[in-house]
Amino acid sequence: MRVGLLLAAFPNNLLFKIWKKIMTQKILVLAGDGIGKEIVAEAIKVINVLKSDFALDVELEYGDIGGAAYDASGHPYPKETQEKAATADAILLGAVGGYEYENLPRKLRPERGLLAIRADLDLFSNLRPAILNETLADASSLRPEVVAGLDIMIVRELTGGIYFGQPRAIETDENGERFAYNTMVYKEPEIERIAHSSFKIAMQRNKRLCSVDKANVLEVSELWREVLERVAKEYPEVELSHMYVDNAAMQLVKEPKQFDVIVTGNLFGDILSDAAAMLTGSIGMLPSASLNADGMGMYEPIHGSAPDIAGQNIANPLATIMSVSMMLRYSLNNTELANKIDAAVEKVLAQGYRTADIFVEGTRLVGTDGMGDAVIAALQA
Ligand code: NAD
Repeated sequence: MRVGLLLAAFPNNLLFKIWKKIMTQKILVLAGDGIGKEIVAEAIKVINVLKSDFALDVELEYGDIGGAAYDASGHPYPKETQEKAATADAILLGAVGGYEYENLPRKLRPERGLLAIRADLDLFSNLRPAILNETLADASSLRPEVVAGLDIMIVRELTGGIYFGQPRAIETDENGERFAYNTMVYKEPEIERIAHSSFKIAMQRNKRLCSVDKANVLEVSELWREVLERVAKEYPEVELSHMYVDNAAMQLVKEPKQFDVIVTGNLFGDILSDAAAMLTGSIGMLPSASLNADGMGMYEPIHGSAPDIAGQNIANPLATIMSVSMMLRYSLNNTELANKIDAAVEKVLAQGYRTADIFVEGTRLVGTDGMGDAVIAALQA
């Protein structure tokens, strides 16, 4: 552990990479707040079955983040968690936040813990799938035939662009009129690394990548497009296309199944990934991943800590269980077990198991733990 910590201070060091390869892979579990604890407990049950029945060689370590960390140590991202994160191969996160923390100073709020860990680990590549299982097509606000079987991956650049660009300010001019500005800026290496990340993901899927920008208006998009074209030469099997963001928004609601992987900057990705998530109609069903350049990643459901339903055993754990599947696929290089989890989730849905958020008349209502048990039964069948 201490050796790992020492080597982790130099993540590009060859020794660190070799050390990580020979050690049992380590998953850091950060359950967080609210329903975080309940949904993560189900995901851990699944991991333990993969360990006992399918020879998955991982070790689980636990830490605090968000409000739980503030309660335990006075900070939403304490040093101890930071140290554990530095040597983990992947992180499974529940959710953070709660009413009781809303009046804390901004820098101590649970959500700050999330921003801090993302920045600390340089998790610049945010993967948000929008998947709609055939059996849940009625949950979407779009016609079932438009969305049934939907499977899109949106790759959003997470640590650059207009949300971080300088200068930024609200100022007052000489006439006393206030004005405000932000800067949309991308450096070539930032575009290059998100491009590589998205091409690699396209290689693991249907090999079609659509880059979304606003190159008809923005210089930053012009550079984005140029770099994407250049990086594409290293992935000749992937078919690269470009689309303006306004058209992409239209196409997502008109004919979403035309997309395989979409890559875009921070601002456009923020908006498009939420729109795509809502095509599926169920917030409790969507996992996500945030990766760094070494493929180390943090995996979490896209929803929050849902304090309104916390502690009632009614939260849907499937987004968290599918986050484990993404972890196996993108950080632990175990596509076989990732496919097993996905198939088990499909099976329980086909069997009619539903938590309250996706329940419809004629299906079988189960609690958070009941859904976890059903997935395990499907895995072991
Ligand atoms: P939320 O995603 O927690 O909840 C929105 C609605 O969806 C609620 O009605 C909730 O009951 C429902 N819901 C969410 N997840 C569900 C699940 N797995 N199963 C069934 N229903 C589910 O968003 P919010 O209410 O805006 O935020 C609550 C807290 O979570 C806030 O403190 C917010 O800052 C935080 N938050 C955290 C994250 C994160 O940890 N990544 C993301 C968003 C919000």
